[in-house]
Amino acid sequence: MALGPTCPNCAARVPFLRTQFNFGRTFACRRCDQALVVPRFQAFVIGMGLTLIFLFGRHDFPPEWGGGLGLLVLIVAVSLPVSWALTAVKRV
Ligand SMILES: [Zn+2]
Repeated sequence: MALGPTCPNCAARVPFLRTQFNFGRTFACRRCDQALVVPRFQAFVIGMGLTLIFLFGRHDFPPEWGGGLGLLVLIVAVSLPVSWALTAVKRV
């Protein structure tokens, strides 16, 4: 199984930026023209999980690593590829 979101119709890869922005908006597969959407709820759950990690972790994060801001940068750096890998696009 390929990592990351692919078109359920033709298995073409969905562009990375489509999976990070434009949640809930439809777009056409670049290979087969199937209308696709990244479900809003899924993006919401991933975002909430990361926010909770930040809220609970920021006080325990070592100050010499940048404290809360360092944790935020770390979460963003980790979450982009992780959320991309977890994203599934759906047919509209
Ligand atoms: Zn397709």
